[in-house]
Amino acid sequence: MYDPKSSKATEFIDDQVIQDYIAYAEQNKNNRELVDAILKKAAECKGLPHREAAVLLECELPEEKERIFALAKEIKQKFYGNRIVMFAPLYLSNDCVNGCTYGPYHCKNKHIRRKKLSQEEIAREVIALQDMGHKRLALETGEDPVNNPIEYVLESIKTIYGIKHRNGAIRRVNVNIAATTVENYRKLKEAGIGTYILFQETYNKKAYEQLHPTGPKHDYAYHTEAMDRAMDGGIDDVGCGVLFGLSPYLYDFIGILMHAEHLEAAKGVGPHTISVPRIRAADDINPDAFPNAISDDTFEKIVAILRIAVPYTGLIISTRESKEARRRVLNLGVSQISGGSRTSVGGYVKQETTEENSAQFDVNDNRSLDEVVNWLLELGYIPSFCTACYREGRTGDRFMKLVKSGQIANCCQPNAIMTLKEYLEDYASPDTKEKGEKVIAEELKHIPNEKVRRIAAEHLTELHNGKRDFRF
Ligand code: SF4
Repeated sequence: MYDPKSSKATEFIDDQVIQDYIAYAEQNKNNRELVDAILKKAAECKGLPHREAAVLLECELPEEKERIFALAKEIKQKFYGNRIVMFAPLYLSNDCVNGCTYGPYHCKNKHIRRKKLSQEEIAREVIALQDMGHKRLALETGEDPVNNPIEYVLESIKTIYGIKHRNGAIRRVNVNIAATTVENYRKLKEAGIGTYILFQETYNKKAYEQLHPTGPKHDYAYHTEAMDRAMDGGIDDVGCGVLFGLSPYLYDFIGILMHAEHLEAAKGVGPHTISVPRIRAADDINPDAFPNAISDDTFEKIVAILRIAVPYTGLIISTRESKEARRRVLNLGVSQISGGSRTSVGGYVKQETTEENSAQFDVNDNRSLDEVVNWLLELGYIPSFCTACYREGRTGDRFMKLVKSGQIANCCQPNAIMTLKEYLEDYASPDTKEKGEKVIAEELKHIPNEKVRRIAAEHLTELHNGKRDFRF
């Protein structure tokens, strides 16, 4: 029986309820009166429950679709302004004992090169990332209790935080590792991680079990209940995600919103972020073999309606998406993107040859970080390297209260400007620097609080004079 407060996966993600709401959305996709009423409610910017969000996603009425996109843009602007937070993934190891049928790391793939970075190699990768200008990483490993035990992950986090090359520093390490125990989550918390990220892949239990036929990941309940354990271990910020294309998209769309509602009901705070990857080509993986793969248009709608349904949750896209696909979703709701990413193990130091192939997926946006920053500036965004909230203890419900009241803008806007200034001073090409300075001068005016605006202006001068790392 569906119970968002339950600690059991099959009760907070209820298959029958999802099936019923898929049918409900199908029946009402042209029900103008209902869609109008849902949009009116959504305009209050307090989010939408999964049942109503599903109706919007299926809506086929052209003018209502226009209104959905317009509202998503409005909400994006209200909560996130023009800011886009930058990050990069760091792959530590692709050893994996699972048998996933859609990811190249699966243990039966014999032509992928297996690699695990030593601490010295991690240090070199981090220096390369710092020299690009990155401050925020998402650390990734395959699931392998023998080769990638929690001790290896903890040691790696320590190495990453310990490296200060020139003016560089990694100030926030988010961690994307397999579902684990409360005890291990507690250790990650103590190691100072930012967000714990785990993609559900698909919420459909039957499909999930077929897609993960062997290995510890096969256990649907253990995987789906991981965020609860992470929060029990003291991690306030968790990041959810599905891999769109594994199951019919509407099922996973409802599933991820149910998961968010569960975390809010059971733990008092919803997910910090939601990632929206899609099935992509990779070694041993042909996307044509996935009949549920989604089009760009559907992808856009998913992003827009997630923005409306969970306005307080950051939305993330990676370099799996092409430049054009990323451009299309940026103003609809995406608030974080990766840039200059390498998805191979050790790829920041050494570009791989085809024979060396160790990547998790093919990157569709191959631009350097500077090119991505330059492009964002051209499109009118502020690329932000901010990591302030977790360093200031603004996590979990404390963070959510600030977001819900809109007060976070007094932190995000100056922090975005100041971290962009750091980037321009230390890493940008002359053209990016010129564009960035113009954006900073303009965006400084949009800091709501006068005192904060004045202090930010002072810090910009200090940054120009060589000081670093200011934050609100
Ligand atoms: S101030 Fe907080 S919410 Fe805003 S960009 Fe920085 S870390 Fe994120």
